[in-house]
Amino acid sequence: MTQLFKHYINGRWETGVTIGVSENPSDLSDVVGEFARADASQTEEAVRAAAAARDAWAHSTPMRRFEVLDFIGTELLARKEELGRLLSREEGKTLPEGMAEAGRAGQIFKFFAGEALRAHGERLASVRPGVEVEITREPVGVVGLITPWNFPLAIPAWKIAPALAHGNTVVFKPAELVPGCAWALADIISRSGLPAGVFNLVMGSGRKVGQAMVEHPLIDAISFTGSVPTGDALLKTASARRAKVQLEMGGKNPLVVLADADLEQAVECAVQGSFYSTGQRCTASSRLIVEAGIFDRFRQRLLERTRALNVDHALKRGTEIGPVVSGAQLEQDLSYIEIGRGEGAELLCGGERLERETRGHYMSPALFVAEPHHRVAREEIFGPVACLLRADDAAHALALANDTPFGLCAGICTTSLKQASHFKRHAQVGMVMVNLPTAGVDPHVAFGGRKGSSYGPREQGSHAAEFYSTVKTAYTMP
Ligand code: NAD
Repeated sequence: MTQLFKHYINGRWETGVTIGVSENPSDLSDVVGEFARADASQTEEAVRAAAAARDAWAHSTPMRRFEVLDFIGTELLARKEELGRLLSREEGKTLPEGMAEAGRAGQIFKFFAGEALRAHGERLASVRPGVEVEITREPVGVVGLITPWNFPLAIPAWKIAPALAHGNTVVFKPAELVPGCAWALADIISRSGLPAGVFNLVMGSGRKVGQAMVEHPLIDAISFTGSVPTGDALLKTASARRAKVQLEMGGKNPLVVLADADLEQAVECAVQGSFYSTGQRCTASSRLIVEAGIFDRFRQRLLERTRALNVDHALKRGTEIGPVVSGAQLEQDLSYIEIGRGEGAELLCGGERLERETRGHYMSPALFVAEPHHRVAREEIFGPVACLLRADDAAHALALANDTPFGLCAGICTTSLKQASHFKRHAQVGMVMVNLPTAGVDPHVAFGGRKGSSYGPREQGSHAAEFYSTVKTAYTMP
């Protein structure tokens, strides 16, 4: 029997106003489940529940928050194989990638369990004799969390965990392509001992549920991860009513390969960063900027590696690249292959629809040699498509790396400490990688970008406190 993934509102599981279907992108005959879809009135119910629960949870003890978050983290880690399988079946990343993500979600909850106990404050001397000054952090209130499909456990985890740790109540709206993962996470959270209303899951379209959250006066803060156009529109609406906003959006991340790089290491960084998780990572390396002295050797070796990648069913042993997440995303990826060809970029390999044993959204990883002004080298494609760009020297490579409206992540492969240090200082991004793929970050440190990629305070690690709490300064004359 097909499973129905329900909303979780005010401590109860609720069916939707309409029903959607989640399908397996590796095998379109496999229905992962049906899911409840809300309208504005069901969203209203969730927001009101979170608002009603707000004051009690804001005053809960750090130990209580620790216990809840620790419970969730423990269960995620214990079930990471099963949850990783669900994730791979629903989103299409390979099973090892799915399991790693489920484990990472567990580690994030464990980290924030600890953060709940580390409620820092400051005590300062006043300029006035005898007066004491204290600076403490308090919850923001009700937070609305809106997430994309590409990390369906990790991204919700890195928003929900700090929100709860810092004493906020939550309304969570996942992307419609991954309701099974959202439901699985909510199922664990529902058994963690939270009072009714502290955590709410509402599924449905961005235009109905997401928009209703963004406009709602009882939602004090919105944390969004997704595309630039959605983020920009959301920012206008939410900031007009002075809600706190945090946006994590797209990327067109450069990986610079200097002539002195270790060739094999650089090729592995490029393959991993560009094509793993089917290139569907905001931190994917989609611009490979290669210095002239190593360009031909790098191109040859990368081409061999890319052609040999095994694209197949996400759950099959030995699959390196799973399917594209949906038919619409596959059409978008393929349309960029035509755009690239049309504007004169040289397609070295890939960019074709593939057939496998099961009917799914399969595509061969594509490699272009492009010019910096080509659209394929400037716009986020969010699929298994990478562009090689030739740089005259290290300075030219850095200039090309920074020549983009985005600023999430940048990588460099070099054996020169001097070049690596220079790049770390001058790359206009939020995260820099040296001799590592641009994708792949730790769960306990700040995550985020600059320019068109991000807005507002950083996510993750102790830096998450900036968004999920607000500062209070108290003066006391004892
Ligand atoms: P999307 O913008 O289409 O959707 C993201 C979320 O916003 C979904 O839950 C969607 O339902 C919701 N939404 C859509 N319209 C809305 C509206 N009008 N009001 C409120 N919510 C609305 O993005 P996507 O296709 O799910 O994800 C892909 C994008 O996410 C890529 O651009 C990628 O770079 C980005 N991304 C960024 C990061 C990061 O941390 N920087 C991480 C992962 C993905």
